[in-house]
Amino acid sequence: VGIRPNTALAESMRLYCNRGIVVNDTMQTVTDARIYSVGECAAHRGIAYGLVAPLFEQAKVAANHLAQFGIGRYMGSLTSTKLKVTGIDLFSAGEFMGGEGCEEIVMSDPFGGVYKKLVIKDDKLIGACLYGDTVDGSWYFKLLRDGRSVSDIREKLMFGESNIGDVGHEGHSSAATMPDEAEVCGCNGVSKGTICKAIKDKGLFTLDEVKKHTKASASCGSCTGLVEQILMFTAGGDYSAAPKKKAICGCTDASHKDVRDAIRAQKYLTHAEVYEGLGWRTPNGCATCRPAVNYYLISTWPKEAKDDPQSRFVNERSHANIQKDGTYSVIPRMWGGHTTPDELRRIADAADKYKIPTVKVTGGQRIDLLGVKKEDLAGVWKDIGMPSGFAYGKSLRTVKTCVGSEWCRFGTQDSTQMGKDLEHALWAMYSPHKVKLAVSGCPRNCAEAGI
Ligand SMILES: Cc1cc2nc3c(=O)[nH]c(=O)nc-3n(C[C@H](O)[C@H](O)[C@H](O)COP(=O)(O)OP(=O)(O)OC[C@H]3O[C@@H](n4cnc5c(N)ncnc54)[C@H](O)[C@@H]3O)c2cc1C
Ligand code: SF4
Repeated sequence: VGIRPNTALAESMRLYCNRGIVVNDTMQTVTDARIYSVGECAAHRGIAYGLVAPLFEQAKVAANHLAQFGIGRYMGSLTSTKLKVTGIDLFSAGEFMGGEGCEEIVMSDPFGGVYKKLVIKDDKLIGACLYGDTVDGSWYFKLLRDGRSVSDIREKLMFGESNIGDVGHEGHSSAATMPDEAEVCGCNGVSKGTICKAIKDKGLFTLDEVKKHTKASASCGSCTGLVEQILMFTAGGDYSAAPKKKAICGCTDASHKDVRDAIRAQKYLTHAEVYEGLGWRTPNGCATCRPAVNYYLISTWPKEAKDDPQSRFVNERSHANIQKDGTYSVIPRMWGGHTTPDELRRIADAADKYKIPTVKVTGGQRIDLLGVKKEDLAGVWKDIGMPSGFAYGKSLRTVKTCVGSEWCRFGTQDSTQMGKDLEHALWAMYSPHKVKLAVSGCPRNCAEAGI
């Protein structure tokens, strides 16, 4: 798992390597004291660190030693890391696996999607692993680094910094004690001061409103807990917790889940049955609920429920994307971004023949023919002779790939082939929303497969 340092150069010089180039506490290689090694390529006391913070500490020790400013020793680093993937809040720090002589405090709520584990040894916090609610990650990491005894706050430790009362934080939540310039949302660069100002000036009371006005918590969502805390103490009694249930649209009070459950439980097969059964306020739904209900009916009862073309968007009906001037855009599929000279010639010939004004390479590694007249659509598709890219559908659009291990010197996996396999497997599926995927061949993530 992870990245392995390339030690070929060091090994060719006969420097001793295991996980990396083996160094002592002054970052000198154990083979030759004249040679230093710091960073991801160095192995210190059996650990090769893969984060920036320990590497800075190593560099400081090496620099001091080289400049002969006394002998500082590198004793290893405590590290914490937060997964930066949308929708997955995961934080870990220190020795979160525990072990001999360790005590573990665990809170597990599989239904609510929250798991927290704290590892304590000799009354000190030595490790933490948080999933689902990572708002206290930096506080736990501070306790870990400070190495202070947690015996006085042990009972409340699991419930986070805002719950330790007067014992540790003078009764304030961490949000209240943060300075205004402190960054809350790293994705969108939003500070606490900006959020508080928006709450006061614009009279915001809900998380959704704060997201809309400031963009805080609107991307990866890992700061949601903190934004809610700020909202709570700034808006005070006016704060309204985000409603747990959101109606599909104004036609009904039913949520998406209510509709799915009812279709399954009551075996509804038509729009009319759903609207009547769930007390819709409009006779035929609207542009928001109709496509959703259509999808839920077909996906729940694929053999019995019938697709309703009127509940599909115009783009899906005409197999092309309508543009603002009324012309269409045609995007043929290029599996994994691969094409051939023959396909490119056919695209070029069609563009000439139908006088298509714009040919554009899309952000999803395909070719877009823009400005196609409605009456030419069938001819264009026939002449190109390629499968549809479904660039207009509630379906799989692109699977973006990097060149991966076949070509790239960093690649550890064949990302292009995996992208093609995924694209073939999911091609032409009907989904509730457009779906775009990406596959990268290593953590450098050139295909931007995660956020
Ligand atoms: C996708 C990705 C995301 C990451 N995200 C984070 C993060 O959020 N937080 C964090 O703390 N860390 C993160 N890391 C890890 C962090 O980037 C690395 O730990 C850090 O950059 C390593 O620094 P380094 O100086 O040891 O090595 P590098 O930054 O890899 O520098 C090594 C340099 O040596 C050069 N080199 C290699 N061979 C030779 C040679 N033979 N001759 C001359 N030069 C050579 C290379 O070109 C390179 O410039 C991430 C890493 C990746 C890949
Ligand atoms: S993600 Fe980038 S560096 Fe990694 S294999 Fe793909 S192209 Fe190469």
